[in-house]
Amino acid sequence: AKTCGRDNCQLFHMGMNVPLSNRLSLENDLRHALERNQLVAYYQPQVDLKRGHIVGFECLIRWQHPVRGLISPAEFIPLAEETGMITAIGKWMLDTACQQLKVWKTRELPPVRLAINISPRQMEQPDFVEHILNALHQHGLDQGMLEVEITENLIMKDVERTVEKLKQLSASGIKIAIDDFGTGYSSLNYLKKFPIHTIKIDQSFIADIERDGDTSIVTAIIAMAKGLHLNLIAEGVETENQLAFLRRMECDEIQGYLLSEPLTAQAATTMLIENITP
Ligand code: C2E
Ligand code: CA
Ligand code: CA
Ligand code: CA
Repeated sequence: AKTCGRDNCQLFHMGMNVPLSNRLSLENDLRHALERNQLVAYYQPQVDLKRGHIVGFECLIRWQHPVRGLISPAEFIPLAEETGMITAIGKWMLDTACQQLKVWKTRELPPVRLAINISPRQMEQPDFVEHILNALHQHGLDQGMLEVEITENLIMKDVERTVEKLKQLSASGIKIAIDDFGTGYSSLNYLKKFPIHTIKIDQSFIADIERDGDTSIVTAIIAMAKGLHLNLIAEGVETENQLAFLRRMECDEIQGYLLSEPLTAQAATTMLIENITP
């Protein structure tokens, strides 16, 4: 359509699997979700295999919808990204994560790292770095407690500008993780040039270990990460078999249902206190 305006065009690529009215009402509801306190942060533990205890949590957002129940981020994050609402949602998540770290610090629980997922559109905000530094400062937190998770595709979208921002973050002590590693379009070159601390092996490769015993990609990624002295997290670890393999390969950390599903703040706190380990 020649005269199609911005909003009309969006309707076309918003997915064919969901009825249009559904999409529209979801979008409308999402606009109010923040002010109505319907967004919830869940926390999935990350365990260091050598030390045998929790060293961090990944923050995963959910939407407690009054009618539809708990909505997964896979359903509304793409919508938030398309409409630009992701900027406000991302700020909410950052502030929520900082508040949680502050609560744990005040309760004198063992210090852990929190990782938050960053969308491309969030990274594009001119005040992105400033906002993160301010949030940490306001809550009196050490920069080393925060990790940002970005994807290879995000980096490749605008290499020059992204590297600039990552350098600023890293120089301040904030850690940078590459999420879903191995699934994006990228050159491996950036691993050396960029200030990256952590690689998260995508769960599809971890699933391969179980499905058909194929360990080739995981083995290659682990060798590469070790060569580059990067911290390595295996995602989506569901079985003892996968755990045994990752232990043998001396993978640094694991995350997945075998240890725990993403937890409410209260359940995560309990787990941190008990420090349950595999
Ligand atoms: P992700 O960053 O790759 O997060 C990992 C996803 O795998 C999470 O799904 C997690 O619950 C799930 N998972 C964890 N362990 C296992 C396992 O053992 N087996 C399997 N099959 N899955 C496991 P979730 O929470 O539904 O999040 C989906 C995606 O939504 C995330 O993928 C991330 O890309 C995005 N997302 C979540 N929270 C945020 C957020 O605050 N901001 C942004 N921008 N994106 C977010
Ligand atoms: Ca992630
Ligand atoms: Ca991931
Ligand atoms: Ca993913």
